[in-house]
Amino acid sequence: MSTITPTQEQDVVQRVPKGLFIGGEWRDATGGATLAVEDPSTGEALCEVADATVEDASAALDAACAAQAEWAATAPRERGEILRRAWERLVERQDELALLMTLEMGKPVAESRAEIAYAGEFLRWFAEEAVRIEGRWATAPNGGMRMLTMRQPVGPCLLITPWNFPMAMGTRKIGPAVAAGCTMVVKPAKQTPLSMLALAQILEEAGLPGGVLNVFTSRSASKTTGPLIDDPRLRKLSFTGSTEVGRQLMGQASKNLLRVSMELGGNAPFLVFEDADLDAAVEGAMVAKMRNIGEACTAANRFHVHASVADEFARRLAERMGALKSGRGSEDGVEVGPLIDDDQRGKVRELVEDALERGARRLTDGAESDGRGYFYPPTVLTDVPQDARMLREEIFGPVAPIAAFADEDEAIAAANRTEFGLVAYVFTQSLDRAIRVIEQLETGMVGLNQGLVSNAAAPFGGVKQSGFGREGGAEGIDEYLSVKYAAIKA
Ligand code: NAP
Repeated sequence: MSTITPTQEQDVVQRVPKGLFIGGEWRDATGGATLAVEDPSTGEALCEVADATVEDASAALDAACAAQAEWAATAPRERGEILRRAWERLVERQDELALLMTLEMGKPVAESRAEIAYAGEFLRWFAEEAVRIEGRWATAPNGGMRMLTMRQPVGPCLLITPWNFPMAMGTRKIGPAVAAGCTMVVKPAKQTPLSMLALAQILEEAGLPGGVLNVFTSRSASKTTGPLIDDPRLRKLSFTGSTEVGRQLMGQASKNLLRVSMELGGNAPFLVFEDADLDAAVEGAMVAKMRNIGEACTAANRFHVHASVADEFARRLAERMGALKSGRGSEDGVEVGPLIDDDQRGKVRELVEDALERGARRLTDGAESDGRGYFYPPTVLTDVPQDARMLREEIFGPVAPIAAFADEDEAIAAANRTEFGLVAYVFTQSLDRAIRVIEQLETGMVGLNQGLVSNAAAPFGGVKQSGFGREGGAEGIDEYLSVKYAAIKA
């Protein structure tokens, strides 16, 4: 994209509907309250969106429940074709949607474009999965009856998404729910509602019937979603966000024994063995650490590097990270945007100070700019001791702590020393070692000799306190289907 003008920025913001999308209609919140959306690169308001009340949230669930039976009976091919048309529109509008995402979330436009493509792939993938929902037919072992197994939509779902991937975290849930024949209520994060509203508009234009998808934005997440989770008509809760909130929502969901999917926090170890291709490891580290300004659940949170190559790896990584250009994501050549808000920046700063106080060394310049926006400089720390908080807590920022290990057993023990278990990265050229290490890592996903695992065709998800359930791949649609078995006299 060539240089973006302020007029282009205003245009993309202006074109997004700002209301609630309920029962196929766009409308204001009851009472007309609104909520400001901020540009994290300036701290200034971009626009206002509707601030839903408890009644609005309840109306969204009413609409989803009213549409459920007819939607479940809609032909799978038709459900798939709607998703496919939505994917085509998303791709056609990739540039403007990327700019919109950058304005509300901060990441560079090139990265937002990549997210739109990734988000679109879930619509495309589940368009193809909609027509492959199959069952089984079997004869009971004693021959006394036939057994018919079918998979049916679970029913109305509540989907709650975070701000870090404002569109992809939505399509990863909406795609399979639409394909499976479920209706839904979606609540995006309050910092980044615009991408979700734009997506709802695209699905509406693609022919999704009113009531199948309902979206409300709100400044009071727990107040508006709480009554929905308590409502016996809701059948499923799918949440992507922090482990802390996930745990709380699990408790709430237990009342009605909801089907639950939890995509929670991570603390990804990045292991570099002495036999790794160091060029590939540094390249992979740049992706695993710097994608999304480090604000990804899959972000490499800590680098465990064999002592024989640790200094060289640290030097090269610091050189690459220190050379990145920070700035407003819509400016030409910018590679690192601001963090989402001042709280997030404060948390990152605190973790760096803690590590330095415990003896870590900073290899990058590290000066914070005192201008507008929530910028934090890409930072590499080495000799990070085991008791540093950043080795245990999710950093969610452009900071790479490096610690050396002596052998494979120590590396695996360090990698697994966390309550999280989303993803790990392993760099080695030995096939034997790769298999040994992959099998012993306590994570839902592993990147071998590459710093990116996300793909719409793969099952994304974690173990331990990173949650459960899988999004994407052949597994992704199962989260939205219930198995029914009929015993048939024969
Ligand atoms: P968050 O604070 O947990 O919020 C996530 C969503 O939950 C937002 O929509 C938020 O709404 C809502 N929410 C917050 N408190 C709630 C409550 N009491 N009841 C109902 N809803 C509530 O997480 P975040 O800061 O947005 O996102 C960052 C976290 O998400 C990180 O830990 C990251 O690792 C994780 N994440 C995980 C994955 C994965 O697939 N495993 C992917 C991306 C991100 P408001 O915005 O209104 O507060």
